[in-house]
Amino acid sequence: MPVRQNNVVAAQWSPNGSIETGDLTARGVEIFGSDVFGPDEQRKRLPKMLFRQLQATIERGEPLDPNLADAVALAMKDWALEKGATHYTHWFQPLTGSTAEKHDSFFGPVGDGTALAQFGGKELIRGEPDASSFPSGGIRATFEARGYTAWDPTSPAFVIENPNGAYLCIPTAFASWTGEALDTKIPLLRSMGALNKSALRALKLFGDTATTRVFTTIGPEQEYFLIDEQFFYQRPDLIATGRTLFGAKPAKGQQLDDHYFGSIPERVLAYMLEVERELARLGVPIKTRHNEVAPAQYEIAPVFENSNVGTDHQQLCMQIMLSVARRYGLVCLLHEKPFAGVNGSGKHNNWSMSTEDANLLDPGDTPHDNLQFLFFATAVISAVYKHQGLLRASIAGAGQDHRLGANEAPPAIISIFLGRELEGVFTAIAAGRPAESVAREVMNLGAHVLPDLPKDTGDRNRTSPFAFTGNRFEFRALGSSQSPSLANTVLNTIVAEAIDSLCEDLEGRMGGTKKKAGKTLPEALTDVISATYKTAGKIVFDGDNYTEAWHAEAAKRGLKNLRSTPDALPELVSEPTVTLFGNYSVLGERELHSRYEVALEQYVIKLNIEAETAADIAATMLLPAAVRHLGILKAAGLTALAKETTDLIAAFTKAIKALQTANLHENHPTDLMKEAIYMRDAVTSAMADVRAIADMLERTVADDLWPLPRYSEMLFIK
Ligand code: ADP
Ligand code: MG
Repeated sequence: MPVRQNNVVAAQWSPNGSIETGDLTARGVEIFGSDVFGPDEQRKRLPKMLFRQLQATIERGEPLDPNLADAVALAMKDWALEKGATHYTHWFQPLTGSTAEKHDSFFGPVGDGTALAQFGGKELIRGEPDASSFPSGGIRATFEARGYTAWDPTSPAFVIENPNGAYLCIPTAFASWTGEALDTKIPLLRSMGALNKSALRALKLFGDTATTRVFTTIGPEQEYFLIDEQFFYQRPDLIATGRTLFGAKPAKGQQLDDHYFGSIPERVLAYMLEVERELARLGVPIKTRHNEVAPAQYEIAPVFENSNVGTDHQQLCMQIMLSVARRYGLVCLLHEKPFAGVNGSGKHNNWSMSTEDANLLDPGDTPHDNLQFLFFATAVISAVYKHQGLLRASIAGAGQDHRLGANEAPPAIISIFLGRELEGVFTAIAAGRPAESVAREVMNLGAHVLPDLPKDTGDRNRTSPFAFTGNRFEFRALGSSQSPSLANTVLNTIVAEAIDSLCEDLEGRMGGTKKKAGKTLPEALTDVISATYKTAGKIVFDGDNYTEAWHAEAAKRGLKNLRSTPDALPELVSEPTVTLFGNYSVLGERELHSRYEVALEQYVIKLNIEAETAADIAATMLLPAAVRHLGILKAAGLTALAKETTDLIAAFTKAIKALQTANLHENHPTDLMKEAIYMRDAVTSAMADVRAIADMLERTVADDLWPLPRYSEMLFIK
């Protein structure tokens, strides 16, 4: 079959046709949350008292009564069976950042040859998967394999359907028998608890004694690529590593800027609609979809939710995106950098703090709100400044090393963009002078006349890793394949610490002594903001984060520039990190070390797989193609061309050998950190050498002999 024939086949698709259509606004066709055991379903199926008790557990984190668990289990089981589920699973998130599940049947034998559905409080509350195969970074030695999953009642259970059946997923936490967290959910929940406590303390200072709960919210914007599955299965690199390890730059890349916000190709739109439909059934509210900058790149964004549920939903979102793609003959790529030379994919983590009725990072309309808003915004600035390295470490990973700092994603230097007006307000307060844009009012903080802060700053800065966007901060440096857990655990905890420290400062200034009366809240706050911003304001930058000038300026300001994963990860176990997480009981020292080790190990393993895959493809697919091509040239008596190709082949062979040698296990340093650095320096550069020649060969070797689908095909045939 001529090579190009593949592309015609690849371009063909038929609408799956399986998704229900109909008026989504009409009664009775409400699919939102239909596969979720949420409050509505719970109310219908539980006695009133128990339902209230469950809600209290969920909202106020009250301990779970075992009787309640039995009742909930019964109701949940009945609901799931009606939905066609035959199995259930404790769904958890081990340290690899993905999700894990082990299915158990609801049915057990009763002795008379029949089977009955058996699922009680015990099964709901606790599970014991064989934990020995999940990385624990030393917390749990393999001989002590016990690990427990524990029901998280705050994230609703759901049913996943398959054409041949369905199963119930129960979101759970995963801990070792010593009670240490083996997952990413436990620390996230602990960090939300920490922030709740600190924020309530602050609200009291502002006279709010009514609020009983503050929680953080996230809305992660997810970028991804879609390519035809025919191309995917012809690329061992995509299959094994999620990214292309070879591929010459196509004549047409993203230089025309014609893809971003362009009209969505029909097949892709059909895919998106089905993804959104499935997610709606699972209670994941999707708000936005659009084309992204690179060809074949898209974005999906949900409506924000509390960080715990939002994180679970983000994991579900990725899972559904991957599985639905196959129904359309597509493969969804979540890797941070699937294609060299065009933009990679990130995940913008929109983050805020909220009470039941108000967003604490909303500047609001009244002076009182502004006072409080300025306080919380100051806490964020101060936290990000103090723990910039830790934030950077929270988003480190092999895929991210291709993206951060590559002029398409934020640099590895963490800085904050506040927008012109808000930055103006802070600068003015810090300098003790009136803000230029808002006349004298800022100076008059003491007289209770505060400026109306802009609700929407109007300006945006796409190059900033951490931007204020009107009523929330957007941490833009997350990678597309990453779980938002760790980044948000860090954010919540560092802000909790900053809030407490600002509270202490405020209380001190307002307290007064025998000789001197304390300051009023607005006066004290002006002082606190001013003092804090004078130092922490160094993290604020409104210019172009991609320029060399900024890198130099950042170095002058003393900001950290942790370029690669091995540079960043030590921040996870640095003294300030250990103290922070210890003080707030979010992660103990052993738990931190385990995360550090697992992350480092994953980095080494991923690069190792990449190197091996690259060497294999080069030796067994590309080299033979080049040799065949050489044969043709020689047979045709094309001596000059044959000579060029012979030279390329010689260089290629040498580079492949060098890569194989570099990646040989016996050549790796034994210390894990040294090994990571070795992979980053020696192995990746050996890979780059192989790729450079391969990409030259791709431009030389006869088209029908080249075994890999090209960038021009994968990115443009839709
Ligand atoms: P952008 O213009 O930055 O691309 P999008 O509309 O694509 O914005 O996505 C913005 C995201 O921010 C959405 O997921 C939205 O739900 C989320 N968001 C809005 N308000 C908040 C908030 N208070 N807390 C967390 N996330 C929020
Ligand atoms: Mg967006």
